[in-house]
Amino acid sequence: MAGVDGNGVPEATGMEASSGSGPPRNNHCMPFEDCVAGIISAFQQPTLRFLREQMEKAGCPVLLRMIRAMNCTSTNRSGSYCSGKGVCDYSPFLLSFKRIRACFLLEITVCCDQMQIQDHINQLLIHELIHAYDDCVTKNIDWTDCAHHACSEIRANHLSGNCHYKRELLRGFMKIRGQEQECVKRRSLMSVRNNPYCSNSAAKDAVEAVWDICYNDTRPFDRAP
Ligand SMILES: [Zn+2]
Repeated sequence: MAGVDGNGVPEATGMEASSGSGPPRNNHCMPFEDCVAGIISAFQQPTLRFLREQMEKAGCPVLLRMIRAMNCTSTNRSGSYCSGKGVCDYSPFLLSFKRIRACFLLEITVCCDQMQIQDHINQLLIHELIHAYDDCVTKNIDWTDCAHHACSEIRANHLSGNCHYKRELLRGFMKIRGQEQECVKRRSLMSVRNNPYCSNSAAKDAVEAVWDICYNDTRPFDRAP
């Protein structure tokens, strides 16, 4: 597989879809320095503080230097997660095998040119830390396995609140739950499809196959925050 380092097992694949829909919002992004400050202050937020504590307890402390702020220019991704165990990939739109690179340190990328408000940074970091948590606590997690990847995406999209806006919009309506789940499913599918080891149909099958178990797996939270 192109781009896979000879020493490494290709493992992580963690691109995130941009959290909004519609046209690119680069014109409305936060100033870069505010984004960097926002990353630091995000860890004061209760959900992220809790996740970071849980990571530390699990033996995988999250250090701020593992988080990289950058401008991702002309892509639609908002961030990425790179397992310390192997290889990470990037955007759905940039994706090519050349883009897969060896990554031997856990690294989370925040695309500052896609962040408009603090809440975008918080959601993205929670999402990526769920991947990091899964990487830490799941024995033999294999990011080239579409079902493993699908499970972590379902959890990350569910637990990060990536789909909360749907809930808010539809609060009080019978469909709330269905809408949120649709959103989690759609976003998870989008990420797994971009795993070079998963074809379109394998991604779809994987998301369906693990859906119930992984949607209901809210570790390390008692329930979705
Ligand atoms: Zn993800």
